[in-house]
Amino acid sequence: MKKDFKSSVSKAVHNATLTGALGKFSEAYKVNRQKAYEGIDFETLRETIAERKSYAAAHLDLMAQTFQINAEAAGAKVFRTNDPEEVKAYILKVARENDVKSVVKSKSMASEEIHLNDYLEKNGIEVGETDLGEWIIQLAGQKPSHMVMPAIHMTKEEVSELFSKEVNERLTSDIPRLVEVARNELRSKFLRADMGISGANIAVAETGSIVLVTNEGNARLVTTLPRVHVAIVGIEKFVEKFEDVVPVLTALPRSATAQLLTSYVSIITGPAQNTDGSMKDLHIILMDNRRTDMAADDKFKQALQCIRCGSCLNVCPVFRLVGGHVFGSVYTGGIGTILTAWFEEMQKSEDIQGLCLQCGNCKEVCPGKLDIPDMILEIRRRLVSQKGQTLVQKSIFSVVNNRKLFHSMLRTASLAGKPFTSGGFIRHLPFFLSELTEMRSLPAIAAEPFRDRFEKIAQPKQKEKIAFYAGCLIDFAYPEMGEALVKILNKAGFEVIFPQEQTCCGAPALYNGAWDVAAQNAIDNIKALTATDVSYVVSACPTCTVALKHEFLKTLDVEKKTEWVAQAQKLADKSIDFSTLVKKLVDDGRLNIAEGVELGKITYHDSCHLKRTLRVSEQPRELLQKAGFELSEMFECDMCCGMGGSYSLKLPEISAPILERKLKNIKETGAGTVAMDCPGCVLQIRGGFDKEGGKVTVKHTVELLAERLK
Ligand code: SF4
Ligand code: SF4
Repeated sequence: MKKDFKSSVSKAVHNATLTGALGKFSEAYKVNRQKAYEGIDFETLRETIAERKSYAAAHLDLMAQTFQINAEAAGAKVFRTNDPEEVKAYILKVARENDVKSVVKSKSMASEEIHLNDYLEKNGIEVGETDLGEWIIQLAGQKPSHMVMPAIHMTKEEVSELFSKEVNERLTSDIPRLVEVARNELRSKFLRADMGISGANIAVAETGSIVLVTNEGNARLVTTLPRVHVAIVGIEKFVEKFEDVVPVLTALPRSATAQLLTSYVSIITGPAQNTDGSMKDLHIILMDNRRTDMAADDKFKQALQCIRCGSCLNVCPVFRLVGGHVFGSVYTGGIGTILTAWFEEMQKSEDIQGLCLQCGNCKEVCPGKLDIPDMILEIRRRLVSQKGQTLVQKSIFSVVNNRKLFHSMLRTASLAGKPFTSGGFIRHLPFFLSELTEMRSLPAIAAEPFRDRFEKIAQPKQKEKIAFYAGCLIDFAYPEMGEALVKILNKAGFEVIFPQEQTCCGAPALYNGAWDVAAQNAIDNIKALTATDVSYVVSACPTCTVALKHEFLKTLDVEKKTEWVAQAQKLADKSIDFSTLVKKLVDDGRLNIAEGVELGKITYHDSCHLKRTLRVSEQPRELLQKAGFELSEMFECDMCCGMGGSYSLKLPEISAPILERKLKNIKETGAGTVAMDCPGCVLQIRGGFDKEGGKVTVKHTVELLAERLK
């Protein structure tokens, strides 16, 4: 990650106005979005959108041809091109032919994508943005910081400064007055303009119509007042049929701004009449700019299902801290990272792809059903396969790929860390390592890892065996969690086996684009975990469980190690996370939890992989309540804690404020204990409380339940 990029991230995170506005908005957004979707089956709705949009994306040529025939039959002129330069040249030609001196624009990301304003202004044409947010950032000489709310990063005081300069009058930050000023200024621009330029939210092939959705009504004025109207339509906006507009219009306002409907929906089919009775000159430009290439790429074709609602930005824990400008391009956030990699170049996404924590929040709310984190992982993979790993990564992964060396280095690290360890924590590290303990204490590496302790556990011999996959953190930092798990499973009548050849699950390599390393980790683990016939392979780490159940298969497929796929599938079928297994054992009457004691208030933190990939959230809650805890839910219980594996080491400037917010939400419940099912989250949250001297006890569910067995 380049230094200047890191410093722009740090600057953004320390911009209180930006983080304050985005933070408030995103907190309110979640509540309001939920209300807006009341009574609507979101899963069915997004399934429909994804199906209609993916059909259009798979038939772009047909969509474009049909659209052109129908739009031209209605009187529009249609121009289709792949090249952004040709889009600009076409608009300039139309402007020259019509003696256009001034242009008004309604919000259009496609026009931002090709930097149209600069181009027209350089060619002597005055350009006025008419969406209030766009106009504000045009006056400020900035780029939009959010797809839907371009000026969300600015205060009313900053806006009043800008407006004061524009109208040459000292204005206060009184919002109604500022709106009045904007209205007056923009009205005169509308009336003067010779050409209106708009985008389109939807383009309907069967009717040749474009659909525009706004709240301010500016798009209607842009498309109806000037005598020439040019619409720039990115070809991902196609739907085949007019009826396909309905699902998109149902989702777009709800997902964008949590509204049931925007104030204006304009459907334009052919040119309208001018006031003198002549017809408007309507040009529709179908802009490709690598969208067809994207549609042909198996991994990225789903990106054309995006309806540009910005919902993914609103729920992203990183975006709400850094805003849009650090992305350095027109499109921002996770989806922006993907679009930048395609519309500009893969290389341009090298730094920004690193901002993604892989928390999966965006995927949950996306009305187009885009798997943004998965596409970002693919960008990482392609970048690494193009450029190779960095020297640091190479040396780390060469160790991780050699289990014996890796584990003996961890044992050495346990000894080396001793001088810095107290009470099980490393609170300060020297020299260049000091950053690692700045925001939270680290756990000391265990003097005796789980794999050694396991040999000393006396287990009753049982017929039914279960394999325990510990993962690096339980093995080397939290062996007591492994011991607790063995205790619980013994009670349920299982004999636990611990295959000593098991190694890192490969997640660190995978999330850093080193898929070859992850594939080797997968193979080593498959060999170790399928050598004995067991009923289950259980893990108390959700990231590891995701690797066992899903990632091994994916990695082996991508790395073409197909000879391992059958065994990987067998392993996936047997793999289970801790809470799901224990809940099942309790329900089956194989395990009894001691009930009837009041253990006090507890709150539960959902780990990203457990909640959003494994879809497990109720099981640990039910078990903890059965054990006698009184559950008090925290605000944003399923928001990431900022750990993200190596993320917290690479981007502590982002990880720290995310953790801070999590600690605050935990404390506000008044609970004395916070439970979670992920040792990584335990590391982050326990370390955070230790650093700030907090009184909350942080426990893995396995530790709490092991104490409550009958
Ligand atoms: S990726 Fe999904 S959530 Fe994000 S803007 Fe597109 S449709 Fe909306
Ligand atoms: S996975 Fe999480 S961090 Fe990454 S883009 Fe989506 S919401 Fe943001």
